[in-house]
Amino acid sequence: MLETCAACGSPKIHALGWILDAEWVRCRECGSLSKGETDDAVTVARALPCGRREDAQEFLDVRTETYRFVAGRLANELSPGSRVLDFGCSFGGLLGELEARGLAGLGVDVNPECVSFVADNGLSVVESGSLQEIAGVGEFDAVCLLDIVMYLPSEITELKEVRRLLRPDGILIIRTTNKRWLATAAHVLRRFHGPTSDDLFRRAVRSHSISQSPRSLCRLLRLLGFGDIQVETDVHLMDEVDSAARVAYRAGRVTSSIMGHPTVSPGVLIHARSPV
Ligand SMILES: [Zn+2]
Repeated sequence: MLETCAACGSPKIHALGWILDAEWVRCRECGSLSKGETDDAVTVARALPCGRREDAQEFLDVRTETYRFVAGRLANELSPGSRVLDFGCSFGGLLGELEARGLAGLGVDVNPECVSFVADNGLSVVESGSLQEIAGVGEFDAVCLLDIVMYLPSEITELKEVRRLLRPDGILIIRTTNKRWLATAAHVLRRFHGPTSDDLFRRAVRSHSISQSPRSLCRLLRLLGFGDIQVETDVHLMDEVDSAARVAYRAGRVTSSIMGHPTVSPGVLIHARSPV
């Protein structure tokens, strides 16, 4: 059983009990839900839609717009030859787009099938599930974590490592799934209708270790000294979404403009700067 929140590291947690096939805890400080026991990272990675080498091209095709958007943005903000670390690089889609724009990318991924695919394509990659293991690689001008933070056994530990690897005023880009609201709805429904609650929770967390709102993640970044934090909910960041998800993205943009932070949008892109 966890003793601290997997998102922010706070010991102020309380047990939610068993939900589906795992025990979950809720953090009293940041509101995130954490899975009590996380499965082996390589097993989880291989079971994902992006986990098997034979699925590589299909996965890269649906993510192309997201990779181009992120790489284009970095190319606008950085000078040619700048170094970018892509933690959770999967099949190297972002690394290829960075290279095409004159930026020097290094990928890190826990899945050996992804790492061999990326290396076979002539891109730089290291096999690891934690930035704690990354040493002797120097400093980076930008670090990207696209759809990975929700799988991390300890998010705060990895973000501290991101801070170590980034140069002062370096760029951090995080893309994350925002389904904390759905997990909360599932928890409330548990008292009334178990099967519906389980179904909602399954949709909310899938194989994630953490369910965290963007607001909570931004709070954590501020605590770690990151500044100039911007959150976007634009629909073009996730090109494979269906019409229902597009409606949710648009609702996220509306709530974001009214409340100052996105609530129901299923995905967000966070852009921040490391401490100077
Ligand atoms: Zn927390």
